[in-house]
Parts: sequence; structure tokens; C-alpha cells
Amino acid sequence: MKVTIDPDSGFCFGVRRAVKKAQTLLEEGGKLYCIGDIVHNRAEIERLEGQGLVSVERRELGKIKGERLLFRAHGEPPASYRIARENNMSLNDATCPIVKKLQETIKKAREDTEKNNGQLVIFGNPDHPETIGLQGQADGKAIVVTNPDNLSEIDPERPVMLFSQTTKSTVDFMQLEKNIRELLRRHFDENKLPLKVHNTICGQISGRTPRIREFAEKHDVIVFVGGTRSSNAKVLFRHCKDANPRSRFVSAPGEVKAEWFTGARSAGVCGATSTPQWLMKKVAERIRELTA
Ligand code: SF4
Repeated sequence: MKVTIDPDSGFCFGVRRAVKKAQTLLEEGGKLYCIGDIVHNRAEIERLEGQGLVSVERRELGKIKGERLLFRAHGEPPASYRIARENNMSLNDATCPIVKKLQETIKKAREDTEKNNGQLVIFGNPDHPETIGLQGQADGKAIVVTNPDNLSEIDPERPVMLFSQTTKSTVDFMQLEKNIRELLRRHFDENKLPLKVHNTICGQISGRTPRIREFAEKHDVIVFVGGTRSSNAKVLFRHCKDANPRSRFVSAPGEVKAEWFTGARSAGVCGATSTPQWLMKKVAERIRELTA
């Protein structure tokens, strides 16, 4: 059977940059601390942990003193920078430049909304590290909306400035914008709705959606490789499944099952922006073994 790896899948620019930075620092020897998973992919974390990477929870940061510390691509709230300084850590900031810029925009938006009695709304997951970092820039005052249909925290009588976590689905973001418009229409003139929309979904994510759908349609069976904690993996897999119902999600080669390929002539292997190339190659090898 023909097995093809999607050339567009794999690390996005921000994750590639952070992993490369970690790799370089680890090659110098010694431990390197990182808050949370450097990438939402267990296999890649284990590979780096084998070389000296130590993943810690954010709440444990205060206990670490004088060590080397890496901030991953998702970024960190201002409090983490302060603790790193106070504890004399050698900080290597690998925050993705796109996220960094978004953090600065959110900080400014927070000041603006304060002046006009507005509300700063972020479409994101409150537990996602990037959103935690963005919320930190907003002094914890942003309203985080996880579901386009849940607007319960938004006051329909006050202006809204809307942003998105960079890894969310564009379709859902557009639905949220539509729902907020409808909400505000109850109190404001249709032509003067006090809503400013900043579509801050990363181009590396939104650009992949149509391409991965196209890839999924071309193959009989799709095996999507991703971490179960990756928000981007969930979004992209949903698109694969929609474009090709014979799409399967795996996190490791051992999860691939021979019966998925019954009657199939081709299989496509693709993944998220947090999926390493080497892992997709191993999954492709496993498919070849099972279908030989
Ligand atoms: S998805 Fe985009 S914003 Fe997020 S880390 Fe990757 S390149 Fe940066």
C-alpha cells in the first residue's frame, strides 16, 4: 500500500524555533528547566527530557533558583518573568514572535478598554498556556470564551474588543463574532455596533486547514499523529475527519491498527503543528509493516 506523509504537517515556525533553542542549550550540557510541555507532544518531550530537559509546573517555578530556564513558544505571563528575575535564573525566552506581538497588543487593548468601559474578550481555553500568558497581560481582566455559543459573561451594553488564541478554529471564531454582533444589536444601533474584531489566529494554523482537508480527501485512510493535549491537533483532526471519515487519531506508532486499512490502497500520514517529523515517519513505517 502507498503511504504518504503530508509535506505540510509538522512543527510550525514557533515550535520549531523553541525546540531548536532547547536542543542547542541541552547540547551545551546540564539541566534546562521549562514551564509545562515544550510542545504538546509526549514523544518529543521524552526525547528532550532524555537530554536534560526538566518540565515543571508554573506553580513550582518559585522553588527553582539560579538554573537555566526556557520559556516555550506559547509564552508566559509577566509573573513568570518576575519570578525568573528574582530567582536569578538564566532565562532563554523562546516565545513565538507572533505570540509576543499578540501579548503586546492585548496589553494595549486592556488599557484601551479600561478607558471606554469596554470588555476585552479572548476566544481561547483558559487552561491553555498561551491564553494564561495573554490573560496575564490583561491583568486577569479579560473574558475568556471557550465556546462560541456561551456569551454569558459578556455584558451586552458595553463595547467589546475581540481576540483569539492563535491556535483556535477560524470557523468557530467567525461564529463567535456573529453571536457577539447579535448580542450587541439588542442595545446598539446596527451601524454603530461597538465591536472591534482582531482575528489573531495564526496563519500557520488557518493556512493548514484547507491544505490538510485536501490531503485527507486524496487518500483512502488518514492517520493523524498528534498529542491529546494539543489544541491545534484537535482542530486539524476534526477537519481530516470531516473531509475523510476514515481518519484515525494516534499519538504513537503502537496505536495503529491493521484493520483500519482493510480494502484501502493508500494511506496518508499527517499531524499538528506540534507533531515532530520523526514521529510521523515512524507511524508511516508502522503502517507499511502492518499492511505488507
Ligand atoms: S501556531 Fe503560530 S503563533 Fe503559535 S507557536 Fe506556531 S507559529 Fe507561533
